[in-house]
Amino acid sequence: MSGNEAADELYLDAASTEPVSRDVIEAMMPFLTEAYANPLSVHQPGKTAARALSAARASLAADLGARPDDVIFTSGGTESDNLAVKGIAMARMRMLRDRYGESVKPRILISAIEHPAVAQSADWMERWFGVEVVRIPVDEQAHIDMAALERELAQGDMTDIGNGEHETAGQGSGSTLALTNRTLLVSVMLANNEVGTIEPVDEIARITHTHGVPVHVDAVQAAGQIPIRMRDWDVDALSISGHKFGTPKGLGALLLRGRTPVEPVLSGGGQERGLRSGTQNVAGAVALAIALHESNERMAGRYRALAESRDRLMDAVLRVEPRAQVTGDPKRRLPGHASFVFPGLSGEALLVDLDARGIACSSGSACALGRHEAPATLLAMGFTAPVAKSALRMTFRTPLTPEQVNRVAAAIEESCHSLTHAHPSAPAGAR
Ligand code: PLP
Repeated sequence: MSGNEAADELYLDAASTEPVSRDVIEAMMPFLTEAYANPLSVHQPGKTAARALSAARASLAADLGARPDDVIFTSGGTESDNLAVKGIAMARMRMLRDRYGESVKPRILISAIEHPAVAQSADWMERWFGVEVVRIPVDEQAHIDMAALERELAQGDMTDIGNGEHETAGQGSGSTLALTNRTLLVSVMLANNEVGTIEPVDEIARITHTHGVPVHVDAVQAAGQIPIRMRDWDVDALSISGHKFGTPKGLGALLLRGRTPVEPVLSGGGQERGLRSGTQNVAGAVALAIALHESNERMAGRYRALAESRDRLMDAVLRVEPRAQVTGDPKRRLPGHASFVFPGLSGEALLVDLDARGIACSSGSACALGRHEAPATLLAMGFTAPVAKSALRMTFRTPLTPEQVNRVAAAIEESCHSLTHAHPSAPAGAR
């Protein structure tokens, strides 16, 4: 039995969440039982906890190509994205207005396929502060339109009337970014949750920095699945979420370079450089460090096998169901991520039918029975709403065996067949 299979159930929804490994639970235990002290306490037990927290910070940073001081522990991907988008936007908006006055219309650039944690944080800035939110389009494989990004950044350029004390834009590693653009922030994802496409965030950072604008990367789906080198890529802020790579839910981090201005979203005791108040979760920090390290090591050993089994799965599905189409980039995508549309069918009905056949997968979007919304990513990629609603996502961390691939393909063939006969008049046509 592989890591995807418990009894007869085949779990192909790893992008939603993953189980916690025994190693991670064991690594957490001492910090829940004996070494439970508050890491800010001055007594010896407090110091023990503080040492563990700082070791976890160093390990997490090393595994993400960052520095220990960059790490801000949070309660997960949603909080990290909120802190990055709202916090950086608010801090830079104040700097911009101090320099240029109230008449400047600040903007935030995000891609059209961002997770709601980013997209709705940007919308919140619009609602409360009148910030203009610009969504950069993507192509039919969900690649961000780099020309559009450049165009929008150029539109935000302003003549600097400041005193020239700030750093020159584009030099990357200095203490701050230039205030020569009314764009507060660019926020893009490293890998898309719905279709798995990987974005060139290093190139995006390069282009964005030439306009003096900081870049936040939502790496929630990518962490533990592909290598991440935050500082080599010259990214300013990066979000991760532990439960996508094997910690308990409700744990994450925002990696944020010291040069990036940010306003805390939570007020309180000033933990985590004053940017994320609240008593630190030492056991949680240890879990993040151990789980990411294990996940990276596992991935290094199985990356090719995982990607090959994904390709076999995609081929098998296309073979048994000629209406199916792969969504996202067929190659430059997460190794354990296969996604499709089945024009003419309902993704929700397909999910339910496959579940009854022991295969747990997802549509890749918010989905509750009777309220199946078209996945936003697919709409942005140019699919019509009915086709977007036929989406199916299968995600796994362990390579699928040939038997598992055959089992999934056979189940999809049967499901598609039975659903077609249940709804013979459903419309076809992919886009
Ligand atoms: N960003 C992306 C791309 C995600 O896929 C998710 C969760 O699925 C999140 C953010 C939110 O993370 P969390 O569940 O830790 O709040």
